[in-house]
Amino acid sequence: MLDKIQVVLSHTTHPGNIGATARAMKVMGLSRLALVNPQKYPSAEATERASRATDILADAVVTEDLNTAIAESKLIVGTSARTRSLPSKLITPRKLTEIIQESPTKTPVSILFGTENSGLTNEELHLCHYHVYIPTNPDYSSLNLASAVQLICYELRLAFAEGDLLPEQPVVESEEPINRAQFDGMLEHFLTVMRETGYLMPDHEKQIDIRLNRLLNKAEVTQSEMNILRGFLRSVEYQCAKTSNIAAEKDSPSN
Ligand code: SAH
Repeated sequence: MLDKIQVVLSHTTHPGNIGATARAMKVMGLSRLALVNPQKYPSAEATERASRATDILADAVVTEDLNTAIAESKLIVGTSARTRSLPSKLITPRKLTEIIQESPTKTPVSILFGTENSGLTNEELHLCHYHVYIPTNPDYSSLNLASAVQLICYELRLAFAEGDLLPEQPVVESEEPINRAQFDGMLEHFLTVMRETGYLMPDHEKQIDIRLNRLLNKAEVTQSEMNILRGFLRSVEYQCAKTSNIAAEKDSPSN
């Protein structure tokens, strides 16, 4: 679907915004860009701001007028920072993705972005089936042009990206969760050390057992974390044994 959605920038005055738009599109997997009567284009500033998305600029369609740019589109959507006096229904970017999902035959889709100073003209707004308003501070609602493109393209990516949204993360063996037998071994180890150090009194045993079980369960302990905890418990046991050996030696009749 992302390849059927065209971003249309109308009468853009700053070439940097054209480059930043290309970059915003490419990171979200969109590729179709149309430029309607840009004030200064091609431009070194646009190329620079595009970073490694210059292929989007190279493939961009440049037209004299908006009608030519949207001639093949079946769904035309305008974006606007203004909410008053719009001729069509106002929707959020998320609602836009739902509308596209519900009517996949209405493609290609064109999403129009206005000029930096004054936005889309009334004539341009009248060509649109819907108007997208990016929810913003009502007292300061106008985003930078390329930022507005970025946010809309992000919503489109969430809705239409193929495959997983997150890259696959390799599972590190030591970060694998422990199984129940390992859990029981660890819990028993804790209780043993608590008994050995005199912390655990027989009449509290059940209570501590239940709470410790709950605490360790909440921690979702991994293999490496279990190794740390059990290593620590072993060192406590070792120190206890050493202390009691010294005490025993002191008490022995040969001393
Ligand atoms: N002063 C202009 C704002 C132009 S900003 C106005 O009142 O409309 C340039 C373009 O960025 C806008 O035409 C629109 O396409 C987009 N844009 C900026 N803020 C937006 C918002 N909150 N919602 C939707 N589009 C927005």
